[in-house]
Amino acid sequence: KTPDALISGEAVSQVISSCIPSITDPWQMPATDVDFALIAIRIASFGEEMELEYTCTNTECAEEFRVGINLNQYIEQLGNINISYESTIISYGELKIHIKPLSYFDLSIIQRRSFEEQRAMEAASQMEELSEEERQQAYQKILNNLTELNISSITSGVQGIELPDGELVTNKEEIIDFVNNTSVKLYRKITDAITTIRETTDLEPVESECPECKNVMQVPLLFDYANFFV
Ligand SMILES: [Zn+2]
Repeated sequence: KTPDALISGEAVSQVISSCIPSITDPWQMPATDVDFALIAIRIASFGEEMELEYTCTNTECAEEFRVGINLNQYIEQLGNINISYESTIISYGELKIHIKPLSYFDLSIIQRRSFEEQRAMEAASQMEELSEEERQQAYQKILNNLTELNISSITSGVQGIELPDGELVTNKEEIIDFVNNTSVKLYRKITDAITTIRETTDLEPVESECPECKNVMQVPLLFDYANFFV
């Protein structure tokens, strides 16, 4: 049921360019701005009410039900975030690390790759014909991929490294090299800054009650953009 993030990402990109022609490359927009643009387009086309499908978190119930939400409140919330175009700067000795929100493109790639690794992990655990050694090798490969993915999501959040003379190094390879060889302390500072930006831009979860068992749950507001305009 999970749509391929890049295929739906391509569709999203086309919707945005056709509705807001002044945006030439939606892939490079901060992910939050993409949410904002899509919700605005959806309101303009279908009104401010929208229904989301949920499955009850009570495993004995697992009822599927629909929750109506009002999109206007999210437009307001997203509209009040003003971090999007500014970067946060971390000082480290004589260097300054410029942090930026993830672009829609980076986020799509990261989501897709982590989904693929999760599937590979499941597949490896279910393959009965594997010997113990082969299974360990498969897990090790997935772990290596996940580590690499983690580094790439961090470097995607780094806009550049400012040298003492003011030059801003933005070359991707050099940033990856820097992050790979940096101290644990700075690595953590960069991760924290990226997390802070993400938390500021995260949409509030929706509180809803299962109509069947009356279980109250906080469900994350996740728009399935593949079905957004259908
Ligand atoms: Zn329930």
